[in-house]
Amino acid sequence: MTMATYLSEASMRVHSDDNLLHEKEVDETYLRLRNELSSVEIDGVSFFLAEGDLLFDEDELLFYARRRRLASLRFAERLIGNGPELGDAQTVTSGPAELMGVIRNGRPVRWDAGMLLTYCVLRRTFDSDENYRTVVAAMDEAARSWESICGVSFAHVSRLDDSADMKPDGVLYPVREISVDSTMVASAFFPTDAVFRRRMLINRLRYYTTSFDRVGVLRHELGHVLGFRHEHIRSGAPAACGDESEANTIPLTAYDPQSVMHYYCGGRGTHLFNFTENDIIGAQKLYGPPLDDTHVILPEDTETGWSDGSEDVVGFESHIKDLFRQRDRGAMRTFRNFDLWKYEDVKEHALDILREVEGGTMPCDGPWPQSSVDQFKKWVDTGMNP
Ligand SMILES: [Zn+2]
Repeated sequence: MTMATYLSEASMRVHSDDNLLHEKEVDETYLRLRNELSSVEIDGVSFFLAEGDLLFDEDELLFYARRRRLASLRFAERLIGNGPELGDAQTVTSGPAELMGVIRNGRPVRWDAGMLLTYCVLRRTFDSDENYRTVVAAMDEAARSWESICGVSFAHVSRLDDSADMKPDGVLYPVREISVDSTMVASAFFPTDAVFRRRMLINRLRYYTTSFDRVGVLRHELGHVLGFRHEHIRSGAPAACGDESEANTIPLTAYDPQSVMHYYCGGRGTHLFNFTENDIIGAQKLYGPPLDDTHVILPEDTETGWSDGSEDVVGFESHIKDLFRQRDRGAMRTFRNFDLWKYEDVKEHALDILREVEGGTMPCDGPWPQSSVDQFKKWVDTGMNP
């Protein structure tokens, strides 16, 4: 199974193929990119850094060069009016720009519906506990922002944060801190990448001091994880980042420089990487609307050993916290600035919350079942145990 998965994912990588070697010697785009792009070494392996945060080995760079060449040909065709999409008489404007997904065999690549996208944050790779906590919090917020706009769900498997393994079983990908002398702030992977390349990298030398929004950077990287490519490709903008002037770029109205997936170099885009309306449309085309988390009602009286004689004590951790879904938590953090998964916060606002859930005005997408309301009331009435 593992082998088959690996082979299918690596099917584009044909090492030691003579044709490929020959192509590398003569392909001008490839040779130019090889010259222009800086390289980054990770775990002893060299990668070319393209578009600010994409890492390619030599074969991948060749495939990338092919795609760039095709894209610029198509773009030139459109400019002179003979493009296959626009016809002779039309100007260069097309429909609203939406997120561009990775395409393979003519189909967009995405994770399976309902799949939990799990990650851990490898604590020992971080220079300090402060860095580690910063990234844990930023990842959490970035993940929740994607969950709030489309049907994906991420989970931080924190028990694997102290794993000795750089690629622990039990998560889709680890988040690691690295230290590379490069413009790269962070880097992620695409769903099509081989299993061993699934990791999110945080550059210690750039991430904590970047002028970009740190949650925004991870929101952008998670966009790659979900299968979205850089927005600027549609513009015919240059592949190399930073070295080329704006004079070499060709503006195209149909692209969205405010998109979360606009790359964060070249002086365009925003520093926040927030979602635009078109991002939300594009994300929902691929993943559907946000998942409606089901209420988790903990068993109150079962023979599984749940009851330990303290069943009369309603505690926040054991009985209350799980009444709140991620989306409830997100809404309260956004609109009321407190955290429904934090004991102190819920205790402080308990009476307000009780009034809202009793009145059915919260959650905003439908009232709690009576049993949950009773549970919460009992917790308030019995002294709000932690
Ligand atoms: Zn990117």
